[in-house]
Amino acid sequence: MAINDAVDWALDLGGGTRVALVQAGTFRSDAGALFGPVPRLLWDRLVTDEIDHEHRLLQALNCLLVETPAGRVLVETGIGERITDKVRAMRVVKGDSIVPALTGAGFAPDSVDVVAMSHLHFDHAGGLLLADGRRAFPRATIVAQRAEWEIALGTNPRLIASYDQPELVLAREWGAEGAADGERELLPGVSVVPTGGHSAGHQAVIVRGARGVLGFFGDLCMRPWAANPRWVSAFDDFPLASILVKDSLFARASDEGWTVVLSHEARHPIGRLLRERDRYRYEAS
Ligand SMILES: [Zn+2]
Repeated sequence: MAINDAVDWALDLGGGTRVALVQAGTFRSDAGALFGPVPRLLWDRLVTDEIDHEHRLLQALNCLLVETPAGRVLVETGIGERITDKVRAMRVVKGDSIVPALTGAGFAPDSVDVVAMSHLHFDHAGGLLLADGRRAFPRATIVAQRAEWEIALGTNPRLIASYDQPELVLAREWGAEGAADGERELLPGVSVVPTGGHSAGHQAVIVRGARGVLGFFGDLCMRPWAANPRWVSAFDDFPLASILVKDSLFARASDEGWTVVLSHEARHPIGRLLRERDRYRYEAS
């Protein structure tokens, strides 16, 4: 089935390339950690209507389905179905996970050719496997950076904290088949570009059509305020790298008028980046 009204949002980039947003539920994360080095005085008013009694923000699990004449790419898989009830309650996970969300929008999981992962943290890679441990996208190649797999399955206690290692071990062989070393074109017009910053092997996904370009910067651009390159979350393992790479990516996105999709924004996930003095501003569509 083609992209249709059942998806949360869709854009025709021309030349047979269309992108749809499919939200795979929501969870909650500590507000202070999401704002990292930014003082609460500066961010408090941005989140007054979504912060809960435990001081957490609502984080959507935004995934993209990219349809091209050469095949289908799913970007991100959300938290998935394999978490325990305890974790589900702790992280306040709600809504459909990726497979029912895709199926509900009319897309068969076995129609996905490539799964592109910005990185492998639990809230992005959890949907690779079904509840019973089978591959959720049986025909697909997983494309994450090889450096990301190495960090995720490594031993550094700080760097592995946001990965669900036992789960990634189950997907390791599948992931090794498609692991990327640097920039790669997945299908004509759909590329991954290594960024680092948020995690060592983090990558952006860029979709080019005849009429425009769409940029998905993963967790380098989770929410509208991330448009300021200096506003990096405490979950960024290499914050100085995040600041530099955000500045260069956001310059291209604003100068070339790219459509930008935010990775964890629930209400206004689609927009553009505009230059503002020495930084950028996110303007929702
Ligand atoms: Zn995330």
